[in-house]
Amino acid sequence: MKVTILGCGASLGTPAGGGFWGKCDPDEPKNHRTRASILVQSETTDVLVDTTVDLRTHLNRLNLKKMDGVLISHAHSDHVNGVDDLKVISYHSNKLIDIYSNSETLEEMDRRWPYLFRPKADGIYVEFLKKNPIGNYQKFRIGDIDIESFEQDHKTCQSLGFRFGKLAYSVDVADLNAQSLAALHGIETWIVDAAAYEKEAILTHANIQRIKKWVEILKPKMTYLTVLTTHMDYHTLCAELPPHIQPAYDGMVIDMEGNRR
Ligand SMILES: [Zn+2]
Repeated sequence: MKVTILGCGASLGTPAGGGFWGKCDPDEPKNHRTRASILVQSETTDVLVDTTVDLRTHLNRLNLKKMDGVLISHAHSDHVNGVDDLKVISYHSNKLIDIYSNSETLEEMDRRWPYLFRPKADGIYVEFLKKNPIGNYQKFRIGDIDIESFEQDHKTCQSLGFRFGKLAYSVDVADLNAQSLAALHGIETWIVDAAAYEKEAILTHANIQRIKKWVEILKPKMTYLTVLTTHMDYHTLCAELPPHIQPAYDGMVIDMEGNRR
């Protein structure tokens, strides 16, 4: 099994629209960031986490033609607004794509875009997704990939983190309760939202200080930071962080032991 970081950018991407690079060096390819999303793959199964507005770019970069399931962390626009790009995958697979999240997120997507789940205009437009509500702490399986969800406090809403064996993915998280920290016990690799970076006040995203505290508790071998903003230059982060906490970059491939391929 392996995980590909399809995108590790924050909601605006890097550079943000208009060519705003912030503190990021435009000459460093690892600073070119699309919106945060990962692909989890076994020999037979492909699972996507989040459908960002960069989904079409991600599908084309990896030449992905099928998807066995899609997990959604929460319904904020930068995590779901590319969902229409799954239509072509559904069409060519001749099946509905299974989408998994908590009921709140799935109902919000249904409210915004009912055509995803139901035919429209007497069947001229056909649905292409099938809802699979999951609990805040639930074990389930897609193909041959075992998955466990856990609740995350994103302040404006609850998001879902996902664990795949010894690797876990936590986007858009400001805080974790004791049950969620317990759900993360024993991970070796953690990909975690660091968008608050050096800010003292924790609002909707974790900062480096909080991530270091969590890492002390959980002791993963490797932690990769994602949801990186234009304030977060790749090489500056590498120099500031200890060797077991490093920034992700688009296209990074990680195995279950946390090694980069
Ligand atoms: Zn969010």
